[in-house]
Amino acid sequence: MTKPVVAIVGRPNVGKSTIFNRIVGERIAIVEDIPGVTRDRIYSKGEWLDTEFQVIDTGGIEIGDEPLLVQMRAQAELAIKESDVIIFMVNGREGITNADQEVAKLLFRSKKPVVLAVNKIDNVEMQQQLYEFYSLGMGEPFGISGSHGLGLGDLLDEVKSHFPDEEDDSYDPDTIRIALIGRPNVGKSSLVNGMLGEDRVIVSDIAGTTRDAIDTPFSKDDQDYVVIDTAGMRKRGKVYESTEKYSVLRALKAIERADVVLVVLNAEEGIIEQDKKIAGYAHEAGRAIVFVVNKWDAVLDKDDKTMQNFERKIREEFLFLTYAPILFLSALTRQRMQHLLPLVNKVAENHTLRVPTHVLNDMIMDAVVMNPTPTDKGKRLKINYVTQVAVGPPTFVFFVNEPELMHFSYQRFLENRLRATFELEGTPVKIISRKKN
Ligand code: GDP
Ligand code: GDP
Repeated sequence: MTKPVVAIVGRPNVGKSTIFNRIVGERIAIVEDIPGVTRDRIYSKGEWLDTEFQVIDTGGIEIGDEPLLVQMRAQAELAIKESDVIIFMVNGREGITNADQEVAKLLFRSKKPVVLAVNKIDNVEMQQQLYEFYSLGMGEPFGISGSHGLGLGDLLDEVKSHFPDEEDDSYDPDTIRIALIGRPNVGKSSLVNGMLGEDRVIVSDIAGTTRDAIDTPFSKDDQDYVVIDTAGMRKRGKVYESTEKYSVLRALKAIERADVVLVVLNAEEGIIEQDKKIAGYAHEAGRAIVFVVNKWDAVLDKDDKTMQNFERKIREEFLFLTYAPILFLSALTRQRMQHLLPLVNKVAENHTLRVPTHVLNDMIMDAVVMNPTPTDKGKRLKINYVTQVAVGPPTFVFFVNEPELMHFSYQRFLENRLRATFELEGTPVKIISRKKN
């Protein structure tokens, strides 16, 4: 299921990131306070009246030292290409500027739905300022105040009314969707070719629902797969497409649509910050994850410690991904390439694991005997009942007397017990505490 994408476009300082933060609000992280899970706030999940969508703050994608107009044009093009609805934001205190007019022209020509937001309308008297903005030809201007949180409801109602009808990727639910992430030249394309193999059954390169995404479907041993957004792995040309944040954005969108994320690392060059950020996002999005260390052939003078050392480095850098298996291989020589798809199958299966309720409850009660629940101010956490409410990733709701008593460390313990008991390698696990006496 692809969520609609909303992009916010506007000159610097009109209040884009203020509004972005308001829309995105408090996000529920699966794991809090874990180093390495910080993300760039350019792409995040929003929700309005039970409808989820993705928001892009195009202002967060720095386009270098280009003049304002070039930057604005690049941002508008990015929004046109990547989103379903555009919020065009202007400053109600400054009136219409040349840059606003230029952007309006571009957006108008794109035929994308655009909602005009006039920000910094902090009180009722200032509503007068709105009239001027009709002349942009972008329809009714919505007066909002990012700093006071005014007018956002009406704005989002309007944005929502332009969402496309529920889109579906139209892949069979049994199809495993794979996203490959990693810096340029780690060997993502080579890995895709390696997976397709000699006896490949490529249906065709078909356009994914996300604009400009090219997916590559294939089958192997009666299992259908699709590599999500193969086009996004290629090198591209436009000003904004060469920015680092754009490639991050592209990777995040692919992760949204994937079941299994292959975090491709390079045996020669190690791990970079961006790998950590994107992997953190995949973790938060609840995707199954496999580390693929490619170019193992290029590591010369290997001894029995080389693999162990690299593995230790991965575990140190990706503290929150202890559950993700690591596969060392070479797409070039095909060394251990034959293990990749079986591993993908396995983590995909674990990602949709269902545990019968009675088995789950027996196991948790045993765990509680082994390590009694924590107490706080004389009150002890009591777990009454546990049930699995979702798969992809497996999500468990713990009905407890006081959810605040479920401390992070105890939750960790429970997760570890779940992992020790059930086949959960490669998949995150969500634990939710609900009050019920
Ligand atoms: P961006 O560059 O478009 O992302 O703009 P920011 O969100 O960083 O905001 C630029 C400045 O405008 C900041 O100092 C904000 O505090 C201020 N600002 C944002 N929204 C409002 C608003 O609704 N009213 C007023 N008066 N100031 C605002
Ligand atoms: P991408 O940018 O991540 O898609 O990377 P490519 O698949 O285009 O590979 C980049 C370069 O690395 C190419 O020159 C490949 O031939 C080379 N390469 C890919 N996999 C391997 C490998 O396993 N070993 C070696 N030595 N080179 C590889």
